[in-house]
Amino acid sequence: MAQEARPAHCLVFPYPLQGHINPMHQFSKTLVSKGIKVTLVTTKFMFNSFQQLSGSMPVETISDGYDVEGKASAESLEVYFARFKQVGSETLKKLIEKLNSTGFPVDCIVYDSLMSWVLDVVKSSGLVGAIFFTQSCAVDNIYYHVKQGLIKLPVVDRVSVPGLPVLEPLDVPSFIHNPGSYPATRNMVVNQFLDIDKVDWVLCNTFYELEEEVIQWMSKHLRLRAIGPTIPSKYLNNQKTVEDETDTGLQMFKANIDSCMNWLNDQQDHSVIYVSFGSMAQLDDVQMQELTYGIKQSGKHFLWVVRASEEGKLPKGFMEETSGKGLVVQWCSQMEVLAHKALGCFVTHCGWNSTLEALCLGVPMVAIPIWTDQGTNAKFVADVWRIGVKVDIDKNGVFKGEMVEHCIREVMDGEKGKEIKKTSKRWMEMAREAVREGGSSDMSINEFVASFTQHSKS
Ligand code: UDP
Repeated sequence: MAQEARPAHCLVFPYPLQGHINPMHQFSKTLVSKGIKVTLVTTKFMFNSFQQLSGSMPVETISDGYDVEGKASAESLEVYFARFKQVGSETLKKLIEKLNSTGFPVDCIVYDSLMSWVLDVVKSSGLVGAIFFTQSCAVDNIYYHVKQGLIKLPVVDRVSVPGLPVLEPLDVPSFIHNPGSYPATRNMVVNQFLDIDKVDWVLCNTFYELEEEVIQWMSKHLRLRAIGPTIPSKYLNNQKTVEDETDTGLQMFKANIDSCMNWLNDQQDHSVIYVSFGSMAQLDDVQMQELTYGIKQSGKHFLWVVRASEEGKLPKGFMEETSGKGLVVQWCSQMEVLAHKALGCFVTHCGWNSTLEALCLGVPMVAIPIWTDQGTNAKFVADVWRIGVKVDIDKNGVFKGEMVEHCIREVMDGEKGKEIKKTSKRWMEMAREAVREGGSSDMSINEFVASFTQHSKS
């Protein structure tokens, strides 16, 4: 009797940061909806740090060499990255061997581009490998050009990169216009393109229609596919909901879901500004003061995520002064907030996930980029896709509270805001179209899946 074909098995291995886990976890759910068995892989330290771990997807752990104390206990980031590469390679190989011997042989690894060293494990294990980029394709192409030596650092003048508009120095990622700031991280982001020509697939969390020119250009050089946006399908009004509704994901922070929703339910439609700077960005005291001023002076009701580590920077008395107008929480369910009808605009650092999430829900943005790729995302939000405005920021990262106030008013009440709202709705529709059955991203995912589904049957 012919043996029944087993489902192909894919490991999905995000870099242990919230902004990397979210899109890759979501992508995993899409793979599952296409009949693939997925096992998520994370470090032991990260696994033990999750405040919330729900859903039915199996999670396996490997070691980065810092199981108990985590990355913070490493002497430096260089030391951490080197040890992660060494111990991570060994323990990932052991995990593959374990899975191969227990009836769940691995066919494919989707791994975060920040860990380009996984390629060696992929090759030595004879698997299909897909490197997964959690940044925009515009940002990918900038780093690609740096890696090829085609952009010299530091960027002090305007730069031209194929598929992109001409960029001012502050429009390129901070590691590129200010390469001395975080040298270890700069090396890591540039090394995403190490041996990229040997990789089977390059998957990007974006969609073709959003970044057509740059995707076309990069696809001539790499087997690159846009597979995003990786947003839970229930927020995209898709015909088919791919995920377990009870799955709240893998969260490093505990969300105050009920207090946010109860508060939003009491607000008028499109009246609230939502303020969040993601999981990592830190504002200095001056930036915090200016931001606080802008929010207060705008006169709008606001929901503000201030992580526990940042709370001490809020000006004295701010919470009491604004208690009737605003709610400050340490973490929320951002998708639920963005999908709420009370939302008027999103004051954001323009992390790539936040940008895509706002775009998919048609929420206009006020961009205040802080570091890494956020300046590039903000440039596109304001000048290319025209779904928000950008606060002026000088080369020292300083912005003015008056400007924050002005931008909030412009988006919420101004003539420009009306245009932005219309354009936001158009992009929202296009994003939804891309992930629908037969849409550009859906077709790319099918093509990718077919490549290792065939592999698993041979
Ligand atoms: N997020 C969340 N609750 C919050 C703030 C952020 O769930 O209170 C999520 C957000 O939806 C996004 C991620 O955290 O998926 C942040 O990723 P992003 O790329 O925007 O920024 P990063 O944290 O990497 O700077």
